[in-house]
Amino acid sequence: MDQAIVDLIKLAVGDEGYSIGKARTYAYGFDASIYHSTPDMVVQPRSTEEVAAVMRIANEHLIPVTARGGGTGLCGSAVPIKGGIVMDMSRMNSVKDISVGDLLCVVEPGVVYDDLNRALAPYGFFFPPTPGSGEACQIGGMVALNASGMRAIKYGATRDYVLGMTFVKADGEIVQAGTRTLKDSSGYQLARMMVASEGTLGIITEVILKIAPKPKASAMALAAFPGPEQAGEFVAALIAEPLIPSSLELMDSVSIDAVNRAMGGPLPECKALCMVEVDGDPLTVDKELAVVEEVARRCAATTVETTHDRTRMASWSKSRQAVMTSLSSLRPGSSSVSLADDMVLPVSKIPLAVKAYQQIADRNGVTVATYGHAADGNLHTKMLIDPLSEEQWKAAERTVREIFQATIELGGSVSGEHGVGMSKAADFKIERSSALSTMIAIKKAMDPNNILNPGKLQQWEGEGVIGPLRYPCDPDGSQ
Ligand SMILES: Cc1cc2nc3c(=O)[nH]c(=O)nc-3n(C[C@H](O)[C@H](O)[C@H](O)COP(=O)(O)OP(=O)(O)OC[C@H]3O[C@@H](n4cnc5c(N)ncnc54)[C@H](O)[C@@H]3O)c2cc1C
Repeated sequence: MDQAIVDLIKLAVGDEGYSIGKARTYAYGFDASIYHSTPDMVVQPRSTEEVAAVMRIANEHLIPVTARGGGTGLCGSAVPIKGGIVMDMSRMNSVKDISVGDLLCVVEPGVVYDDLNRALAPYGFFFPPTPGSGEACQIGGMVALNASGMRAIKYGATRDYVLGMTFVKADGEIVQAGTRTLKDSSGYQLARMMVASEGTLGIITEVILKIAPKPKASAMALAAFPGPEQAGEFVAALIAEPLIPSSLELMDSVSIDAVNRAMGGPLPECKALCMVEVDGDPLTVDKELAVVEEVARRCAATTVETTHDRTRMASWSKSRQAVMTSLSSLRPGSSSVSLADDMVLPVSKIPLAVKAYQQIADRNGVTVATYGHAADGNLHTKMLIDPLSEEQWKAAERTVREIFQATIELGGSVSGEHGVGMSKAADFKIERSSALSTMIAIKKAMDPNNILNPGKLQQWEGEGVIGPLRYPCDPDGSQ
């Protein structure tokens, strides 16, 4: 990067606020996806004004800027594929206000999810989305991807809690969007538009979040099924009761096996299982737990365990959260790669989807684990491949595209919570074809010089999922 520009940025953020040189910037080229691309510079602002100053310089000199939270995104959203500046938001990490009477808090984007809940706990409140990455992901990243997790079926996703925000546009203009009120009908909902925008429309520098009271009691059930179809039927039957659990996680045999090997248990050996949590006042919890057990048995569950014990519940939840990391230890020489990682479907289509994904995997000779937040229709698949084999990347790419096609045909979407980034962009463009020209127009109005996280979402130039891979392997000969 030109020294004159480096000097200008240094003036804007101070000596401690920037890094150049590959040794210091290389690590900022990764997130938790399959991609990597080293930026030219890392900037770590401390205030909205510093963000605005950097954006003015970048816009004038046409330098790409990619915002970065915890770097835990799974589809390459924070990977700076066009180089330029990575704007690391982690120094803007203060909880500025907690106002339980107003049911809200005001936070900077670099606040880590679990830290926010630790700050809210003494008041008896929480911010519910519960992503599996809560110990590392940041509020800015969660808003920019509309993250959610195990509790979305009952408590909703991040978007349901965003009341307002401050963001900085590509040209450095500071925008206050939304309000400190629980309702707002005053014009365009700009804060909502920023949700899931993946850093392509502006840099979020403050967020006003709605908060929820913590439930008084909870209990869990663990039901084993003869196959994923019966588990899928149980999910649809439970919702139809009607019963809305606080979480309902489905795991197939590949996921169960991976966790039990990595953690030495504690899951039952079976072809598929559902882990259900109910919460609320103690009487309701007991009644709902009995209904969960009855419906599971009606749907051919081979065993159903229930518990109110906090330690046991924590151990079950931990085992579910460990699926992604456990998969890589399942087969020597293979790694779990984050592809087709969070399709979302109408809940009634879950049994068909689980079956279709398995058939697609078998046809392409790829090991696929299927698990996820099934009660809100959100299924994860992870593929086990040798990441140094070009042939296996090609098979994985075929598998992903067929899974996406099946999902779209069943009325679903390629992403329910992790975002689009690069790994889903080709099929996102097919799925949202009728909205593409409107999205392109919005991007052009907000960022006419195309400096904010360029090359992602509708701008993805790839034909499939292969891009700047983090592995020393080049399946499409493009690197
Ligand atoms: C083990 C594991 C488990 C996971 N479980 C879940 C889960 O259950 N549910 C779920 O939804 N996700 C999950 N994820 C994915 C990921 O953690 C979430 O998507 C999370 O929201 C990403 O936050 P981050 O701070 O790491 O964002 P990053 O990866 O750093 O960035 C993500 C996107 O947000 C943009 N961005 C970041 N900060 C800002 C800002 N201030 N302004 C504008 N744009 C910004 C970036 O440019 C990028 O486009 C998991 C990931 C891992 C590794």
